[in-house]
Amino acid sequence: MMISFHDKAWQDVTTPTLVVNPDVARANIRSMADKARQNHVKFRPHFKTHQSAHVAQWFRDEGITAITVSSVSMAKQFAAAGWQDITIAFPVNVRELKDIDALAQQVTLSVILEREEVARVLAENLSTTVKVWIKTDTGYKRSGVVWNDDKSMTQLAKTITAQQHLHFEGLLTHAGHSYRARGREEILSIYTETVFRLQHAKQTLERAGLEVKVSLGDTPSCSVAETFTGIDEIRPGNFVFYDLQQFVIGSCREEQLALAVACPVVAIYPERGEIILYGGAVHLSKDFAEVDGVKQFGSVANLEKRGWRLLRDCYVSAVSQEHGIVKASRELLRTTRVSDLLFVIPAHACLAVNNLEGFRTQRGERF
Ligand code: PLP
Repeated sequence: MMISFHDKAWQDVTTPTLVVNPDVARANIRSMADKARQNHVKFRPHFKTHQSAHVAQWFRDEGITAITVSSVSMAKQFAAAGWQDITIAFPVNVRELKDIDALAQQVTLSVILEREEVARVLAENLSTTVKVWIKTDTGYKRSGVVWNDDKSMTQLAKTITAQQHLHFEGLLTHAGHSYRARGREEILSIYTETVFRLQHAKQTLERAGLEVKVSLGDTPSCSVAETFTGIDEIRPGNFVFYDLQQFVIGSCREEQLALAVACPVVAIYPERGEIILYGGAVHLSKDFAEVDGVKQFGSVANLEKRGWRLLRDCYVSAVSQEHGIVKASRELLRTTRVSDLLFVIPAHACLAVNNLEGFRTQRGERF
């Protein structure tokens, strides 16, 4: 069902707009929080996915008190909203040491780093204690000390523990290569390998006499794994909304999709089988999901009572700055008019949220 121009309930939507289904998002939060509780691991959800004090309250309602963010400015935003236990899961940027020190005086602050010189300069610039995790590369190859580089790992951990104002927490990884998996089996096998690699690094440091916690956080692993043996903390973020990428790789079910972008239809080309949306790269982002070798920047979906239902064979096949090109089924072409709104489940929810300001629910509330 697309939304007609004459539908009064949607006339406030004039440009690409995030539409969230709070019931679905809250159910996603509850289910991850329950899984963490049952497995006795700390749940420290990543708030970069929603970046919203309103959505943050849904987490508070589930008893969550510790959070992850990806920048110092996001840490400040949530500290101002009353969050007291914050991990900045992005390598310490030494140009922001003053802000890091100021934050550490306000909240229980954890940071991640991977270089000895950063540990030293951080310690020199702090006036209070900060918890420090070693960013560990367990296979993603983005950043971090490589999990089996025993020598560098031990040296860095010893340097951290030797500094005043630094409290060594343990090893933190983001197994982002789980996004390249296809299906639950492959995700599970990356998860199992990640745990093995973290355990190897942990044992290396324990042999050097250190106490070591381990923290991992990627939505595919945290969604598919049933148990978290050998893990102290999980930090998924995307799971609150999920998205087309997660659906395609098998880390969520259709009824868990909690977020769409409502996009105005601006042109229709029946002969090309295409619909043009006001909804391009600056709204949906340039991230895509790959379905049978075809790039999909989002999937068109129907809004139903319980949530969104993906419309097979109706997807955003290309984006330019403001335009999104939809490959449409005959039925969608037949029933769509210029000025309607189509719902697009974005390929990557975190980026779409970052691009668009504020949420609307399917019932019309704004926050
Ligand atoms: N931790 C770190 C360091 C991350 O970079 C991310 C996401 O990029 C997460 C946790 C959350 O992972 P996801 O977005 O898969 O939920």
